[in-house]
Amino acid sequence: MNDVREVVIIGGGPAGYTAALYAARANLHPLVIEGFAWGGQLMITSDVENYPGYADGVLGPAMMADFRRQAERFGAEFMTDDVTRVDFSQRPLAVYVGGEEFRARSVIVATGASARQLGLPSEQVLQGRGVSYCAVCDAAFFGGKEVVVVGGGDSAMEEAVYVTKYASGVTIVHRRDEFRASPIMLDRARANDRISFVTNAVVDEVFGSQQEGVTGVRILDVHTGETRELPAQGLFVAIGHDPNTALFLDQLDHDEAGYLVTQPGSTATNVPGVFAAGDVVDHVYRQAVTAAGSGCMAALDAERYLAADEGHEGTALTAPRPEAEAAGV
Ligand code: NAP
Repeated sequence: MNDVREVVIIGGGPAGYTAALYAARANLHPLVIEGFAWGGQLMITSDVENYPGYADGVLGPAMMADFRRQAERFGAEFMTDDVTRVDFSQRPLAVYVGGEEFRARSVIVATGASARQLGLPSEQVLQGRGVSYCAVCDAAFFGGKEVVVVGGGDSAMEEAVYVTKYASGVTIVHRRDEFRASPIMLDRARANDRISFVTNAVVDEVFGSQQEGVTGVRILDVHTGETRELPAQGLFVAIGHDPNTALFLDQLDHDEAGYLVTQPGSTATNVPGVFAAGDVVDHVYRQAVTAAGSGCMAALDAERYLAADEGHEGTALTAPRPEAEAAGV
């Protein structure tokens, strides 16, 4: 068992690293348990052109390495491992990596969300080479190109419409002929003459190579079993996201989809001393810059909580305490 930390940050994406930067500069000596998949969703993107400050754009993995290095410069410590269990029912709060226990006065959860993937080996090979999970991030790379969008929900409709700002044509491929998307979003996509629909079909292969990027997809008709090839230079997979919250569901308030719920205008969860930031909370904006902003908020919230909590170690954390509420956390 090691000493009690001021703050342990779980997750190594824009939110976690920004929280680490702020916590480190506040002399809170944060430990970031960043996960084996540190860098998060930015590790499967290529150029990032919408992060302010990188005027010439930056590769997603390089940007995450920069975030990490900046936090490290002020003394943040990193552990490249996955948290396996947490116990927020008593204090110090406990975070476990296998048999190793880390105790902390505060914890920032920044484990992010994962874009659902089709699960095709060819999809994985071409991630960042034409296969994308974020239209806002990557649509501009497909000027004058043909693009396929997979999905039948609001995300797929929204992304398809967004991509038509750049692409010459967009084909929405959906596995059923009924849509989960809201009527208004579906109508907007249907009214767009650059968008066509292929229903009762799935993409079961992505063609292309690392060098030339995506060149097309194979479409399988789920009723007839027939396949055909569709030339395309881009594939946007818009089949939803899953928040990485399995570890916390029995201890932290969450919505039906599993996203953590924080108090309005704050990153405080229902457990005093536990804060949440980034895509693990946000299913609306999902941008690196918004995640970084909320990581900053979580570090400031943790700092204020710790200052207000001085001298109260040893209290069971079964219910919010008046002094924490008075501190606005
Ligand atoms: P979603 O509503 O869960 O839709 C996911 C879509 O992907 C469904 O059509 C689903 O098909 C399909 N799908 C799932 N797994 C698949 C697979 N392995 N292969 C092929 N297709 C697959 O997710 P979402 O569209 O991301 O929306 C999530 C939430 O955010 C929703 O509440 C939505 O309303 C909201 N949202 C709102 C807006 C907006 O209002 N501007 C924009 C985006 C999202 P099935 O239908 O057959 O299951």
